[in-house]
Amino acid sequence: MAYVSFPYDAPVSQTLFDRASLVTPGGVNSPVRAFRAVGGTPRFMVSGTGPYLTDADGREYVDLVCSWGPMILGHSHPEVIAAVQEAVARGTSFGTPGEGEVALAEEIVARVEPVEQVRLVSSGTEATMSAIRLARGFTGRAKVVKFAGCYHGHVDALLAAAGSGVATFGLPDTPGVTGAQAGDTIVLPYNDLDAVREAFAAHPGEIACVITEASPGNMGVVPPLDGFNAGLKELCAANGALYISDEVMTGFRTSKAGWFGVDGVRPDLMTFGKVMGGGFPAAAFGGRADVMAHLAPAGPVYQAGTLSGNPIATAAGLAQLRLLDDAAYARVDAVSAEIRGLVGEALAKEGVAHTVQAASNMFSVFFTDRPVRNYEDAKQQESFRFTAFFHSMLSQGVYLPPSAFESWFVSTAHDARAVERVAAALPAAARAAAEATA
Ligand code: PLP
Repeated sequence: MAYVSFPYDAPVSQTLFDRASLVTPGGVNSPVRAFRAVGGTPRFMVSGTGPYLTDADGREYVDLVCSWGPMILGHSHPEVIAAVQEAVARGTSFGTPGEGEVALAEEIVARVEPVEQVRLVSSGTEATMSAIRLARGFTGRAKVVKFAGCYHGHVDALLAAAGSGVATFGLPDTPGVTGAQAGDTIVLPYNDLDAVREAFAAHPGEIACVITEASPGNMGVVPPLDGFNAGLKELCAANGALYISDEVMTGFRTSKAGWFGVDGVRPDLMTFGKVMGGGFPAAAFGGRADVMAHLAPAGPVYQAGTLSGNPIATAAGLAQLRLLDDAAYARVDAVSAEIRGLVGEALAKEGVAHTVQAASNMFSVFFTDRPVRNYEDAKQQESFRFTAFFHSMLSQGVYLPPSAFESWFVSTAHDARAVERVAAALPAAARAAAEATA
């Protein structure tokens, strides 16, 4: 990597990272946090307020990660904090049903029309894992179609993503995922309906479901081409398979009803996480009542969780969702458009090849001048320019996702002052990107 010297340091974060590395693999509890893709010391954050994060060295950053999506109202929103404090004072977990989880389920069902019934879980991974199991149980079929570059959590069967070409059988990408676990996964190129058609033709009566990110954000932001999701739905219906839309990232972020609210394509099952937990571990899967009826204890497909529907998590999620009205989405969309415009302008001024892609208020910057339609396209970008750009922004107090293959996130709290700080950092960062070498 050409960018090896970091013109600023973070001694307290470095000390914490050294301590962490002794007791935790790689020093982090989720790999991308370790800054391996960009180098340097991951920042250990101690607090967040509105659009800002403060690290252990006392530096403040404009946060364009928002905890990877959940913090759509910014950090420490007073009404969310109050709801949490009120809930925590009543106890932290009962292992029984509670009213909070009913209210959260009702809110989800009310917002997302295809969701007739919903089951709460604690992470997006659990949601997709359970949805796949349910699809297999419901259809009595084994195979799952997923798309290269889509991430659905670290579910064994869904980690296969390396296959290229049509109807490639997924090989285990990760040691620990066996051929048996990945062998029923068919990995196809994203935005390629012909590939899906061919997979159904090659495996008649064998495919339980097609799972897709409603609008992918895990290879950078790569929205579905016009008609792609509708085509998936149609092919699934024609072949007796379920269409699963993973809205863990887009759900309650890209509109009041998530990506469904944008494209209106009606999935059989959907998965949610991030925004619906208000910064706590809450996630969900839901959809057609006749399919959900197969879930225990109503039906035979087993699924459970000690902390599912946790009262603090449901209180936080409900408080956040209730604040997310049309005005809130208009605000997030507007600030996203403003920052996208500023980034594009700064990079263009320095002659840096780039493509800014957005799905509502989610967006990312690819260092290529060609549109990115799938994972192969995304990999063609000059990521070394992102590395230089990232470190320049970080040194100027703007916290970006530490990878060129991630979505950037903003919140209702990103006000004019926060945007000004981003704008002020961009010229030097764009210059650094222009000067970077592979
Ligand atoms: N699905 C999508 C689309 C995601 O973006 C993620 C996480 O980023 C997941 C599933 C997994 O969610 P979690 O990290 O809560 O397990």
